[in-house]
Amino acid sequence: MRLLPLVAGSLLTTLAFSLHAHNHDHHHHGHNGHDHDHGHKHEHGDSLGAHQHGVANLNLVLEGSTLAIELESPADNLVGFEYLPSTDADKAKVREVMASLRQADTLFQFPAAAGCSLDQVELQSPLFSAVEHSHKHDHDHGHAHKHKHDHDHDHDHKHDHDHAHNDIEAHYHFTCTNVAALNQIELKLFESFPRTEKLLLQAITPTGQQGGELSPAQNLIRF
Ligand SMILES: [Zn+2]
Repeated sequence: MRLLPLVAGSLLTTLAFSLHAHNHDHHHHGHNGHDHDHGHKHEHGDSLGAHQHGVANLNLVLEGSTLAIELESPADNLVGFEYLPSTDADKAKVREVMASLRQADTLFQFPAAAGCSLDQVELQSPLFSAVEHSHKHDHDHGHAHKHKHDHDHDHDHKHDHDHAHNDIEAHYHFTCTNVAALNQIELKLFESFPRTEKLLLQAITPTGQQGGELSPAQNLIRF
C-alpha cells in the first residue's frame, strides 16, 4: 500500500523534470523571438506596481535636524535603459549614473542658511548590483569552475534583459544645523536627469504632511 505514493512521487518527479526541461526550451525560443514574449513583460510591469517611465516618487521626511530624502525611480528615467548592463558602454553609463546620484548637491539645493550637509547616500538597483558583480567577477577570473557558473548567470541576466522593468532607489540623509531656515528645496535633478518629467512628492515635516507633483517648471518644494 505504501508503494502507490512512492510511485506517484517518482512520477511527479519525472513530470516535474520534463516540465522543467520543456520550460527551458521554451525560454530559448522566447529569447530568439523577443517580441512574442511581450505578455510576460506586462506581468512583470504590473508586479512592480506604479512604474511609469518619466515619473518617479520622492519621499521626504524632516525630523529634528535630520532630513531624509528617498527617490524611487524607474531606471529608464536615470539611465536611459532598464536591462542589466552587459556591454562595457552600458556598464560605464550605469557607473556614471551612480556617481551622479552620489552628488547630492547637484540634485537638491537647500537655502545656504539652513546649513544642510550630506551624511549618507545609499543606492539600490539590480542595474547597480550587476555592475558591482561584474567588478567582483574580474577579480575571481582564475577559477574555471566559477567562470562557467558566471556564464550561466549572464544568461539569466540576458533573460531579464528581455522582460524586466527595473527601478532605482536612492536614499539620502542630510543634517541641517538650522532647520528653521529650511523653507524650501529646489530640485536640480530634473537637469541632471532630463528623462525625469514628473516627481510625485510625499513630504512629512513637523508642520504636517504634504503631497504634490513636481516638474522641471515647478521644481520648488516649499515648507
Ligand atoms: Zn520600466
